[in-house]
Amino acid sequence: MAIKLDKTDAVIVGTGWAGGIAAAELTKQGYKVVALERGEDISSEDFIGSKDELKYEVRHDLYQDRTKETITTRNTTDEDAKPLRDQPTDTNGDGTGGTSTHWAGWTFRFLPFDFEIRSKIEEKYGEDRIPEDMSIQDWGIIYDELEPYYDKFEKTAGISGEENPLGPERSDDYPNPPMKETPSIRMFKEAAEALGYHPYRTPSANMSQQYENPDGETINACVYCSFCEMYGCDFGAKADPIVTVLKTAKKTDNFEIRNHAYVTRVLHDDDKASGVLYVDTQTGEEYEQPADIVVVAAYTYGNTRLMLLSEIGEPYNPETGEGIIGKNITAHYGNLLFTGVDGFFEDKKFNSFAGTGALGATLDDYNGHQIDNNETDFLHGFQLNISQGGAEPISNNPVPKDTPSWGKEFKENSLYYTNRHLGVGSMEACLPREHNFMDLDPRYNDIFGDPLLRLTVKFTDQERNLAKYKIEKAKEIMEEMGADIVEAPEITDETEFNQDSIHSHTTGGVIMGDSPETSAVNNYSQMWEKENLFVVGGSSFPHIGAYNPTGTIGALAYRATEGMVEYLEGDGGLLIEPKEEDKA
Ligand SMILES: Cc1cc2nc3c(=O)[nH]c(=O)nc-3n(C[C@H](O)[C@H](O)[C@H](O)COP(=O)(O)OP(=O)(O)OC[C@H]3O[C@@H](n4cnc5c(N)ncnc54)[C@H](O)[C@@H]3O)c2cc1C
Ligand code: SF4
Repeated sequence: MAIKLDKTDAVIVGTGWAGGIAAAELTKQGYKVVALERGEDISSEDFIGSKDELKYEVRHDLYQDRTKETITTRNTTDEDAKPLRDQPTDTNGDGTGGTSTHWAGWTFRFLPFDFEIRSKIEEKYGEDRIPEDMSIQDWGIIYDELEPYYDKFEKTAGISGEENPLGPERSDDYPNPPMKETPSIRMFKEAAEALGYHPYRTPSANMSQQYENPDGETINACVYCSFCEMYGCDFGAKADPIVTVLKTAKKTDNFEIRNHAYVTRVLHDDDKASGVLYVDTQTGEEYEQPADIVVVAAYTYGNTRLMLLSEIGEPYNPETGEGIIGKNITAHYGNLLFTGVDGFFEDKKFNSFAGTGALGATLDDYNGHQIDNNETDFLHGFQLNISQGGAEPISNNPVPKDTPSWGKEFKENSLYYTNRHLGVGSMEACLPREHNFMDLDPRYNDIFGDPLLRLTVKFTDQERNLAKYKIEKAKEIMEEMGADIVEAPEITDETEFNQDSIHSHTTGGVIMGDSPETSAVNNYSQMWEKENLFVVGGSSFPHIGAYNPTGTIGALAYRATEGMVEYLEGDGGLLIEPKEEDKA
């Protein structure tokens, strides 16, 4: 029998960027907030002296323990899914600050095209151009409406950047100038410009200078230490929830984080959530935390699974196309959509060992509306980039393909090419298909006996053609940069989703839109069917654009929090009326 606790104004599941932003904004307004975090308590002090590649990069210290709870994967509905147990690219966080502590810090805005994708494609290429089973939809919000919230997130996180010459309109500059320009970034920019492209410095949550954000939190200047992505920052120089929003919330005395609190259900009556059920994983005790509003911010997988386990919303059925929860899973699949080319240089050496998570440059000449899809055998597009993340000794061992993987020649080449290697990377938009979805696995359970989340994903020519095309464009830039050897991954018609594809940019499952017929949440991340339940994060993306997701997660979290305050201050009810023609 669960122990029933005193009611609070808001209970938040998860303490990453999404949960942290909700915590800061609600507590600043005077609301009492309890955040439940399944992992341990982590503070910036825990990162001091943590430049330990073996511990973090190799042994995944900050990540969720996949032996205890995981996901299962398969390609088609007639297969049994298999659990993912140890996958180096699936590095979601577990502990205060979530994944948002060991992110790299690339902080983009999605394009206006992304938010109105179906309308824009139909307008430009005609309805027939969209394959019947491609479930793209407009998001129920347009870029101009979201712009102030992007601005707010960028100011909270102190983003260092410069205007994208092909980007959407901004109401203000980035709060900090771009990071330092290194020789390799300069080479990329010069090569790109020579080819007629429009490169710009990657917007970075690593600080180019010391910065005080609007909440009064100081983020220090980055020292380019290289141990950045996959690590917490021991200099307090990477914007994360611990040094910003969670700190702001704690100052108010309205905030409590409970660690080792694993939420198993959202409790609910007819049209409202009443609280959550959680287990203290250190004592095994079960608790009920009642609240006026419930905020689920447990990343795409956690959000989708909690809705399915709690029986909120109708699970998506790929046979009939009915139901929403679990629908529109998309991601930057590691073996296809997150690939790039390698360049090896005989006459140049680079200080690649120095860097930061988001030190680089990007170009958008093939992204969204910039590319003419009349000329391509795919829709939407991609960005190309160079990144100087800091080449660490264990995980970086670039050698040309014909080098043996061990022995004398490997050692010689490894030493020779360590500082003579650069990469041109990319990220592509991924568009949803009716056959790709998430549901509960009937075969595998977690330690509480609850079914694991199951991913069913099969690639189509859309993804493969896009990847092949972008590899050719990346090669051209690397050649222009003067590399003596240019190598690209082989993408064939057989390249398929597998456990190497799993990536921390997975989105969808509790998607947003302008009507309950096509979406689970409105553009305040408010569930249509439970008015005091807000499901915040990448789970609400109807598709992932050609950018890392967190800038957009942050913007949507600020928008959602504005809605939560409006809801708590008002008389309840939906904050947005569902679109007229879809009403019953
Ligand atoms: C190595 C790496 C690099 C990345 N780099 C970038 C980048 O450069 N740019 C970018 O835009 N994105 C990047 N990302 C993605 C980015 O980290 C995520 O988009 C972002 O952190 C998501 O924030 P969130 O608050 O939604 O989720 P999270 O930060 O993952 O927070 C979710 C929290 O919920 C908790 N939780 C989950 N389930 C439960 C439960 N049942 N009960 C209680 N608590 C629960 C988790 O423990 C976690 O703390 C990167 C990700 C990784 C792994
Ligand atoms: S590179 Fe900069 S932001 Fe990243 S961990 Fe080092 S000091 Fe912190």
